[in-house]
Order: sequence, then structure tokens, then C-alpha cells
Amino acid sequence: MKENNKIGSILLSARKKLQAAGKENAALDAELLLMEVMGISRLVVFTEPERLLSEAQVSAFWELVERRAAGEPLQYLLGHCEFMGMSFQVGEGVLIPRGDTEVLVEEAIQYCKDFHYQVAVDICTGSGCIPICLSRFGYTEVYGTDISEKALSYARKNNASLHGNVTFYQGDLFEALPSSFKGNIDVITSNPPYIARAVIPTLMEEVRDFEPSLALDGGLDGLDFYRRIIAEAGQWLKAGGRLLLEIGYDQRQAVSGLCEAAGLKEIVCKQDLSGLDRVITARKALEE
Ligand code: GLN
Repeated sequence: MKENNKIGSILLSARKKLQAAGKENAALDAELLLMEVMGISRLVVFTEPERLLSEAQVSAFWELVERRAAGEPLQYLLGHCEFMGMSFQVGEGVLIPRGDTEVLVEEAIQYCKDFHYQVAVDICTGSGCIPICLSRFGYTEVYGTDISEKALSYARKNNASLHGNVTFYQGDLFEALPSSFKGNIDVITSNPPYIARAVIPTLMEEVRDFEPSLALDGGLDGLDFYRRIIAEAGQWLKAGGRLLLEIGYDQRQAVSGLCEAAGLKEIVCKQDLSGLDRVITARKALEE
């Protein structure tokens, strides 16, 4: 009986269960869940396979393994995920930050340095991963908006635990902002929902069934939020300010076209680490 309470043997059984459920990273998932439940490091997992779990730890661990086997994202079960080298709290109701979004953050930080930008606003902020990084790495005045109170509760927690200096507003895109912001923002960032509605049923089950559709669904062609953000960005940006948008791999032409039609200049696209189009940047003209 005690055999089943040892790190080594419980990991083996959990790995088998997760493999049987079709989880690609069964061994790693089991290890991370165990580390979370026991509050131990990876080193302990490998060097002390004989260490015993308490009864409470055993049942907490198996509950998480069952949920993982049923498809729940690992990050929701752990309660956190890494982004730009920091640990963000996440859970049901908030989009899990993706590595691809780091490309947008790095671009925004570079622009801050090159153009001495100070004021940034992130629209559709979710966990707050974008604005919190911007406030930690250069911008002095940073805001985030989201329509979801649930998402904002995570954003506020993350801002506190990661020592950000972000003010959050609840509301629909720019409607959330005080009107005095008009014409005073250096940089607007957004990673809005951009999946075309018909594509949603084809997404991986753990995204489709567990992450909030509010954070994924970009309308019939996936471009609904870009249309609204791009149409309004000009009136909120300072002259010479920039709009940075994360896009899907096949949205470059459409989103660049919308920026051009809105009179924005210097439209450029940056690729992610897989070489796919990922971030569109556009600038409000210095002189009207
Ligand atoms: N801005 C957040 C992120 O990049 C949330 C994006 C969203 O909800 N679509 O993770």
C-alpha cells in the first residue's frame, strides 16, 4: 500500500494514466502536477523517488491527474504559467498567455527604448500579461482593459504579485477608457480574440472546451476586433504613436489593409519563432 505513496511509483502510474488518455507530455505533466501538490522542486522528484506523499497529497494529486486526463489545460491545474520569465496566475475564465505573444511584448519594449514612449494601453488584456511586462520593462504609465471581470481579477492579482504598475479598466475595448486619454497614448497593444468562428470547433480540445470562447472568437472571419480597434486607435494615439496587434498566421494582409484604410503609416509585420506572421505594427502620422 505504502508503495503507492512513493514519488517514483505514483509518477509511474500517473504517467500511464495520462498516456492512456492520449496526453503527449504525460511524464512531464505528471511531474509538474506532483511538484505543485508537494511544493517540491524538480530536483527532489529525481533524487528522492522513495519519498512518501501524505494521504492528502495522494488524493489531491490524483484529482489533478484525473482532470488533466479529462482534457483540462495543465496551466489551469497548476494555477500559473510562465510568460517573459515571470509566473502569471491563470485559471478558468482567462486565456493562458502564449509564447507567441512575447514577440509583441518585445516589439513594444524596443519601441519604448527607440522612441521614448511612456504611456501604453493594452486592449483585451486577459491575464494582464502584456501590460504588466510593459510596466516592468520601460513604460512608466500603463493601462489595461477587458470586458471580462473574471479576466481582470486575474490581471489585478498578477499585477500585485509581479510588482507591475498597471491600472485596469473594465469595459468593451476603448469604451473602458476615460475620454481624457484621447490623443495621449504612445502605444496601444492588443492580442484580441482572432479565431474565425467556424474554426473554433476544430481547435485542440483543451483550448476549445476549456479556455474562454470570449477570448478566442473573432466573429465570422476572425477580424471583428481588428476592425473596431483599428478604426478607433487613431483618435486615442498621440501623433507618432503606434498600434501593435497580435495576429493569426494568415491575417497579415487583411489586418495591414485595415490599418492602411484607417490612414495609419509605417505598417510592418514581425514573425514569431516559427517564422509565421504574428505582429502588425502601424504608426499614427506625426503630422495630420
Ligand atoms: N492579452 C491577453 C494575452 O495575450 C489575452 C488575449 C485574449 O483574451 N484574447 O494572453
